Order: sequence, then C-alpha cells, then structure tokens
Amino acid sequence: MANWTRRGFMGSLPGAVAATSLAAQQQRGSLTAPAKGPGHGPIKITDLRCAIIGRNPVVRIVTDQGISGYGQAESTKAYLKPMVLFYKDYILGEDATNVERAMLKIRRLGAFKPWGSAVSAIEIALWDIAGQAAGVPVYKLLGGKLRDRVRIYNGGVRFPMTGQTPQDYAENTQKMKEAKEGFTLIKQAVGFHNPAMMRAMTNGWYDEPRTGPPHSDRGLMTERGLEQVIACVEAMKKVLGKDIGLALDCGPGWTVKDAITFARALEPLHIAWLEDLITGDYTPYPNADLFREVTQSTSLPIHTGEEIYLRDNFKDLIEKQAINIIGPDPEDVGGIAELKWIAEYADIHGIQVAPHGIFDGLIGLAAHVQMAAALPQNYIAFEYPVGQPDWWYDIVEGLPNPIAKQGFIDVWDRPGLGVTFNVQAAKAHLSDEDRHFFD
Ligand SMILES: [Mg+2]
Repeated sequence: MANWTRRGFMGSLPGAVAATSLAAQQQRGSLTAPAKGPGHGPIKITDLRCAIIGRNPVVRIVTDQGISGYGQAESTKAYLKPMVLFYKDYILGEDATNVERAMLKIRRLGAFKPWGSAVSAIEIALWDIAGQAAGVPVYKLLGGKLRDRVRIYNGGVRFPMTGQTPQDYAENTQKMKEAKEGFTLIKQAVGFHNPAMMRAMTNGWYDEPRTGPPHSDRGLMTERGLEQVIACVEAMKKVLGKDIGLALDCGPGWTVKDAITFARALEPLHIAWLEDLITGDYTPYPNADLFREVTQSTSLPIHTGEEIYLRDNFKDLIEKQAINIIGPDPEDVGGIAELKWIAEYADIHGIQVAPHGIFDGLIGLAAHVQMAAALPQNYIAFEYPVGQPDWWYDIVEGLPNPIAKQGFIDVWDRPGLGVTFNVQAAKAHLSDEDRHFFD
C-alpha cells in the first residue's frame, strides 16, 4: 500500500475518523494521544502487562509513543497471567504496528484452548495500537467493513434454570427471547455440553459421570437419554417459533451414530446448527473424518471450532468439507486477523462462520465488532459476551448504549478497537498485585 501515512490513508477513505473528532475525544480522555503514526517510524513495544480484572485477564501493551493497546481473554481463564507474561521478552522492542512481524515471534508458542489465549489477546492489543496509530478503526486495517451493523447471537445473556424438564427449558428460552438485546439467534446447551441436563436423568448414557476438565462426559446415549434431549429441544424451538433461530451446543462426546440419529430427528425443526457433537470445546484436536460422516448424513448444519488454535488446524475440517460452519473464538484462535484469514478460506469452500465469544468480556466484544464488520459474506453472527460483574460497564468507555438493538450492534468508527478504560474507575477493581497496571 503506497499511502500508509496517516494523512494519506484517511484522506482516501470516506467515513474515516476526522482528525478534529479524534482531538476532541483525546481531550475528553477517552483515547490515548496519537503517536507519530506508522509513516513516521516505529512504535516500539516497551512493556507487556496482564491484570485480572473481575475474572477476565486483561492484556496491556505499552509503547514508547504514548499509545497503549488492550486485549482480553475469557473470564474462565484467570490463571492465564503467567502465560501472557511468558511472551514479554519475545515482543519487547518490536514495532507494534507491524502486527504480523510481532506475531511471528510468538504465534508458534501456543496451542489449543486454553493455551492459545495469551497469544490471541496480545494480537488483539497490537491491532488496537495499530488502529490508534493510523487514526482508523481496526476494521479498516482488516480490509474495511462489509456491513454497518453486525449480527450477534446469544450468548452471554443467561438466566438461572429452574429445573431440567422440557418445560424448564421452554421457560428459560422464553426469557432469552424477551431479552432487551432482541436476539434473532439463540444458542442453548444440550447433551454432553450440558451436564445438568444429562445427569438429571437416570441412565441417560452408557457411562458414569466424570469429573475433571470441562466436558468430560461422553458415550453411547440410551434411548431414554436421546429422547429426553430431543424433548427439551422441541420445547425450546416451540417458544422461539420461526422468527428466532435456535442453535445447539451439544458436546463434545457424542458417538457418530447418535449424532446422526439426533440430527435427523431435529431436521423438521430447522435447527440453526449443531455444535461440537464429536470433538470441540477443550478437545485438543478436531476429528475431521468423523465430523464429515455426520455432516454428510444430515441436512442440519454441523458446526465446530471454538477450541482450535491457528489456521493450520482448520485445514482438514475445511478442505474435507467436514463441517458447514466454523466457530473459532478470536481470543483462542490466535486473534482477529487470524480468524479473518480462516473465515476467508472457509468461504471459498462454501463454509460459514459464527465466531464463539460468550466469555470474551467487553474489550473482547469490541474486538468482535471490529472483526465481524470485516468478515466475508459467509459471516452469520458472533456470540455476544457480557461484562461480568456488572461494574465492567462502568470501567469501559466507548461502547454504544444500548450495545445491541434488534439483535445487531452498530459498528463504530473510533480509532483502534474504539474502546478504552476509564482508568480512575477501573483502578478500584485492581488487586494489589496489579495496582500499577494502568501507570
Ligand atoms: Mg461451544
């Protein structure tokens, strides 16, 4: 690209943030001061920090020119801090705006969920810096936006279950249907992805409940088990009707034959997708051959991929047409540019993309919006994360209010990820160990 100076780049793009509005936002303290810009020399990384805020690991990359970038990992991964700091020596001194060159230093030192999260959060923070330095939203650096609003699916808006009968699932789904976000697509957990559902019945499958890492149960379903899961799905679908899609997070842990029987039974309900039936969430490999068998045996879309790290590990799934929809999580797959690359490759194979994101937090939400704006036309929706605890909404500035309307989020145009911390408010939630995070 010839005109990568800030002036030239902005001048050539209608809709880019004007310098005056950028200055106004800086005055309000909502953005870090701009550096000289990538056309004027490197923006060197001087520090990599990680704080656990609430339950989300938050990554901050500090540079020598007053710009900081933020990234985030899932709220289930408070243990991640040492892993983030492990990468510090690899990227110190790198030009933060040469994102790919910095990523080459660390990308190979990651793995499937949860061990790709630190690399992913760092990648997102680098894009935040690159966007701020260029004075453009991150989606411009990812190729520009295809859409002015991005569809979301639920996601993080959850209500406590009152029991495990089909009626309980219907009532729970009704609450999601009425949620203020106006979801057009809702995902519910069933089968082995939902231990409460499976363990509430006697003899639901031919093994005993397992403890240990997430989603440890697997095995052949009993007739009773299969029928009970199908009854819960029918009850939920009845609530949503034809206007709101129902996706099902199912496993991992199903046998191929049970998966096919289950999928065929649900075909009349037009389920949006069946997720992770065979391998998936926290399985350290994707089993493309078994997925392919399921996919070829049903008209329902088959989905997987939230645990997968890097484009290389989607190769088999995509090239073998093993699934219909991929669902990488930008906070696990290696970042937002990594996910976009995979989505493009999936698109030329007729495969769609619905990124995972339920625990990605509010910085993660901003990363999703920037990324989703630039994903190709095979994009369906990303999984909507929420701020937990609620005070997260008081410490992050820049999100729209309300965030979601009729199941969509309007794409914003502020530089970088377009969100940052209200440092004063956020400091109150730092542990003693992290008290210098914002200094
Ligand atoms: Mg899942």
